[in-house]
Amino acid sequence: MQVTLILIVLCGWVFARPETAQEELDENNYHLQIERRTGKSRTVNSRETTSSYWNQNAQNLIAEKIGRTLNQNVAKNVIFFLGDGLSIPTLAGARVYYGGEEKELAFEKLPYLALSKTYCVDAQTADSACTTTAYLGGVKNNIGTIGVTAAVAEDDCDAMLVEENQVLSVARWFQNAGKRTGIVTTSTVTDASPAGAYAHIANRNWQTDATVEASGKNATTCRDITYQLVKWDTGKNEVFLPNGTLDPLGNEGGRTDNLNLIDEWLKDRTEEGNVAEYVWNRTALLNIGDDTDYVLGLFSGGYMSYNLDRNTTLTPSLEEMTEIAIKIASKGKGAENGYFLFIEGGRIDHAHHEVKAQKSFDETVEFSKAIQKALDLTNEEETLIVVTADHAHTMSISGYPDRNHSIFGSPGTDGNGLTRLTINYANGPGFIPNGYNYENDTTTIHANGPWAHLFSGVVEQNVIPHIIAYSACVGDGLTACSGALKIVTNLTLPLLLVVLMLHLLTA
Ligand SMILES: [Zn+2]
Repeated sequence: MQVTLILIVLCGWVFARPETAQEELDENNYHLQIERRTGKSRTVNSRETTSSYWNQNAQNLIAEKIGRTLNQNVAKNVIFFLGDGLSIPTLAGARVYYGGEEKELAFEKLPYLALSKTYCVDAQTADSACTTTAYLGGVKNNIGTIGVTAAVAEDDCDAMLVEENQVLSVARWFQNAGKRTGIVTTSTVTDASPAGAYAHIANRNWQTDATVEASGKNATTCRDITYQLVKWDTGKNEVFLPNGTLDPLGNEGGRTDNLNLIDEWLKDRTEEGNVAEYVWNRTALLNIGDDTDYVLGLFSGGYMSYNLDRNTTLTPSLEEMTEIAIKIASKGKGAENGYFLFIEGGRIDHAHHEVKAQKSFDETVEFSKAIQKALDLTNEEETLIVVTADHAHTMSISGYPDRNHSIFGSPGTDGNGLTRLTINYANGPGFIPNGYNYENDTTTIHANGPWAHLFSGVVEQNVIPHIIAYSACVGDGLTACSGALKIVTNLTLPLLLVVLMLHLLTA
């Protein structure tokens, strides 16, 4: 009798329970609602259906974090990776594209993270020009201008030439400390992001004398970005490994002043007694001599190809350029003092502007591979690696697609029978024909190495080079070498006053 009763109770529970659960979950979990309406089942990884899997993941992470000691060494080297337009949803999309929702990009394994506020002085959402001044120069300025303060309005050449309006970049701070510096990009070397390392310009489009003249300015006083790259102080001291606008591949040069700036660059380096090499294809890059001090690598007449379109025989990957840049920066004059490298995945941004999400994700994966290469070739005890974006993009990922569903596909139709898409752009050609896809706000900073733990919380974008300088003991601000002393000095006077007051009160 007793046994029968128990069975009845159990059966009652078993039958009643799913109804109750469904009602509860329908209120809180839209996924289940969709399932019930469509009658569709979703496939899940069976290990993910257990508590132990998720609990163990979380416990492992805590163990790793509490086992980590703060790295307070002085950074000998700093490698700064810039993913142009690498928004947070782009990270999510690239993970799925690369191997699944749970896949980690190389830089997502770095232990420290901050959010970067990217607005500039005169604009709510930024472009690559004002952001490069912030993340390389440490100062926010006006949209469209590079390496100058916000006292310089766009197109104001006179103001740009005033020395106190010019902002020196962290690359220059490293040079002043006797360290080597270099630039790598898949964009053009005179494009806004890399130009932040060496240029002071009131219009990001002034990349040759011809474009300066077209703006009605005098190009012999209002020097263009390419000229500044080769002839002005910061640029001429860089170890370059960029793509560029000066071209040996049969593309016609755009200068009107008859200067061949490749020859000028080689002549200047050689006259200083250095071994300098100019290369324009992958084979030459991979075979650079051991005694080479400086490299100028120009592999395209404009932007480098998207990786998916790349001629893999002729054109190096970002990962290969990164490897050679680290190799060149690690030897030669000043190498014993360390180096600063700026390495840009420049085409993540271009693909978003063109509403080509797949190419943007693929460029992000290439960017990740370059960072993995840098992690493999360096030691976290002496090398700070910082990875960030300059600005975001409007691409979003939404629509309740199934797990493991193609990120480029449709998760189904909406209540009006219209096809939904996982990826959407808020503007651009997907919104209006020939429309331009605009940039967007707030990005992440990932970091590892000496003082990387200073990257935390929500910070203004211009803080980035100040933290880099602190870690490497370069620049005019607080550094790991002087910081403690200065803080003590700053605290000493107020403390003495408090002690004096207490003394007077008690006397
Ligand atoms: Zn950008």
